[in-house]
Amino acid sequence: MFKKHNFGAGPCILPPTVISEAAKAVIDWNGSGLSILEVSHRSPEFESVMTKTEVLVRELLKVPDSFSVLFLQGGASTQFSMVAANFLPVSARASYLDTGFFSQKAIKEAGFFGEVEIVGSSRDGEYSYIPDNFEVSPDSAYLHLTSNNTIEGTQISSFPRTSRPLVCDMSSDIFSREINVCEFDLIYAGAQKNIGPAGMTLVIARNSFLDSVKHALPSMSDYRILRENGSMFNTPPVFSIYVAMLNLIWLKNQGGVREIEIRNRKKAKLLYAEIDRNPLFKGRSNAAHRSIMNVTFMARDEITTTEFLKLAEKRGMVGIRGYRAVGGFRISLYNALPLESVRALVDLMIEFEKISLMNGGFAPEVHS
Ligand code: PMP
Repeated sequence: MFKKHNFGAGPCILPPTVISEAAKAVIDWNGSGLSILEVSHRSPEFESVMTKTEVLVRELLKVPDSFSVLFLQGGASTQFSMVAANFLPVSARASYLDTGFFSQKAIKEAGFFGEVEIVGSSRDGEYSYIPDNFEVSPDSAYLHLTSNNTIEGTQISSFPRTSRPLVCDMSSDIFSREINVCEFDLIYAGAQKNIGPAGMTLVIARNSFLDSVKHALPSMSDYRILRENGSMFNTPPVFSIYVAMLNLIWLKNQGGVREIEIRNRKKAKLLYAEIDRNPLFKGRSNAAHRSIMNVTFMARDEITTTEFLKLAEKRGMVGIRGYRAVGGFRISLYNALPLESVRALVDLMIEFEKISLMNGGFAPEVHS
């Protein structure tokens, strides 16, 4: 349907079939004579979308009945403060693993509600690795992790065992690989990567963890109230949830999370192999902690970076520039990105090396 290779970090590529079905529903939803944009969230038709989306989340991630699935708003950024507002006051402090830009944001927001213990940080290595061997205080309310660091390109491969409740921001790798939900007490994720369009925030929470909160909270920040109301305490993001449903049906039809993980690993392997081979480029993250969703790397120098960005743009490659504070390149390999797009990028990196060899490198342009 589209002619571009979309490597954007989010909102990101969605499957073409999902986009065309969503487009049809905007005009006329299932022949109802109404657009999906104008149906009541209390209509039985939309209630069945909510139910179906929840069933798909439970099925694809094997979420047990002892957990609630919530569809909220405000993005993952609202969860940074909501998690702390609910759970931090239950204990003396909460523990955070500082693995990059988004963990730092979570840490800052938690600070409004109590003491924050930073159990480990990779700041000293410009967030190019995931710290290990850290201790969590026995009286900590929870340990907060960021499973995939979207900007820095690192990912936690196996989650630490701790006696404290585990809270995880999975915004950029949920549904991309198999996880064991039972290892966690609360998982949250903004929708705009592997779930669907921006607007909905997914929360999967252990009921006993939610029930451990005894203090009163403003309604929209109280997980217990949102759970009691089936994520309909106020008007939910109808369109975002509807398209998430379509996207999760797509994922199920691809063979589910197990199959998509195989494909995602194949895409990442192909790209990292070229980064490691090509003398013009260098991977940014410690090899053992490399992300399979967001691949970050640098070029030899500034001029090589600029020239590659120009060439890639000419060839219809979108969203490959690294986050401004990091520089270089970031290639996002979300579920809907086909292997062919990664092949096209790798071919371009090989071609670029040949051009560089022919030119004797890249010199800054001289303007007369
Ligand atoms: N956490 C991570 C890991 C992210 O990648 C992002 C950005 N998508 C956020 C949090 C913030 O998400 P949002 O924009 O939905 O608030």
